[in-house]
Amino acid sequence: MTKILVFANQDGECLSSGAREALAFGGRLASSTGGELRAVLLSADATAGAREAIAYGASIAYTVSNPLLAEYDVDLYVNSIYSVFQQSDADILILSFDRVGKNLVGRLATRIGASAITEVVDFHTNNDKPTWIRPIYGDKAYGEYTTTRSKVVVGIRQKSQVLAEIDEKAKGEIIPVDYTPSEEMIVTKLVVKIQSALSDIRLEDASIIVSGGRGVGGPEGFNDLQTLAKLLGGTIGASRAACDAGWVSSNLQVGQTGAVVAPDLYIAVGISGASQHLAGITNAKTVVAINTDPEAPIYKRANMGVLADYKTVIPALTEKLKKVLV
Ligand SMILES: Cc1cc2nc3c(=O)[nH]c(=O)nc-3n(C[C@H](O)[C@H](O)[C@H](O)COP(=O)(O)OP(=O)(O)OC[C@H]3O[C@@H](n4cnc5c(N)ncnc54)[C@H](O)[C@@H]3O)c2cc1C
Repeated sequence: MTKILVFANQDGECLSSGAREALAFGGRLASSTGGELRAVLLSADATAGAREAIAYGASIAYTVSNPLLAEYDVDLYVNSIYSVFQQSDADILILSFDRVGKNLVGRLATRIGASAITEVVDFHTNNDKPTWIRPIYGDKAYGEYTTTRSKVVVGIRQKSQVLAEIDEKAKGEIIPVDYTPSEEMIVTKLVVKIQSALSDIRLEDASIIVSGGRGVGGPEGFNDLQTLAKLLGGTIGASRAACDAGWVSSNLQVGQTGAVVAPDLYIAVGISGASQHLAGITNAKTVVAINTDPEAPIYKRANMGVLADYKTVIPALTEKLKKVLV
C-alpha cells in the first residue's frame, strides 16, 4: 500500500489554500493507488490544523507542536518534516509548490534521497505507479514524467486543484510526534521584507490584482497602483523585473518563479508579458493590459487592453472609480 504524506502548511490556525489543494491531490492519488492519505502539521500547537486535515481526508495527522514552529523557518521545517517522513515510512511526500513549498521541495528530496517533481497538476497510474503530469514550455504543452527512485517528493502547482469537500464527521487519528526542533538547527535566517500593498490580502488569494512591471519606471509608480488596488479591494503584484530592481518586495512577484495567482481581474501595468510572467496568470479570469507598445505579448493574453502611458490611465481611472465606489 502506497503511503502518501502531505505537508499541510498552516495560515495561522487554518490550513493554507495550498495545503488544501495538496490534500485534495493526495486524496485523489490515494483513491487511485489504493493508498493511504496522511498529513504532517507543524505549528506552536498543530492540533486544530490536524483536525482540519482529517476533515479534508487524512486518516492520520502527525503533529509537531513547538513554539519554534509558530513561524516558518526553512531549517526547522525541513528537519521536522524529514523526521516525520522517516517515522511514518511514507513513500510519497506531497507539498503545495507555493512560496514555502518552493523553498522545501529540493531540500527535502535531497535529504530523503528521493526524486523530486514540481508544478505537478495531475497524474495517471499504471500498476499503481504514478505518472506525473505538469505543464511545460510556458504552459503550451503537458509533459508526463515517471521517477526513478523509490521515494518521491511532489510539488503541486498552486491553483491547479479542485478543493476536497470538507467532512466535519470524518474520523482519523492525531499522532503527536516525538521530535523536538531546537534553535541550534537554524543555519540560515531569512529576513523577509513583507510589502502587503496596504491590505492583508495574500496575493494567491486575491480576487483583484493590480500588477506593475518595468514600465512603471520606479518605486514611486507603485504608489498609484496601490491606491487603485485598495480602491478595488484588491492587492498589488509585480513582474520579476520590478522586483529585481528593488522597487517592490520579491514577495509580490507573479510568475513561474513567483506566485501563481487566479484572480477574477488582473490588471497588468507596464508588463510586457514574457512567458515566465504569463505562467503565473494562466487561471486569471479577466486580464487587462495597460502598455505603450502595441506589439507587447501581454496583449495576446489580455481580454482588454489600453494602449497608453499608464501615468495618464491609472490616475484617471482611479478618479473615476472614486466617484463610483467611494
Ligand atoms: C528562469 C526564469 C524565470 C523567470 N520568472 C519570472 C517570473 O516568475 N515572473 C516574471 O515576471 N518574470 C520572470 N522572468 C523574467 C521574464 O523573462 C521577463 O524578463 C520579465 O517578466 C520582464 O518584466 P517586465 O514585463 O516588467 O519588463 P519588460 O519586459 O521590460 O516590459 C516592460 C513593459 O512596459 C511597457 N512600458 C514602458 N513604459 C510604459 C508606460 N509608461 N506605460 C505603460 N507601459 C509601459 C513596455 O512597452 C514593456 O512592454 C523569468 C526569467 C527566467 C529566465
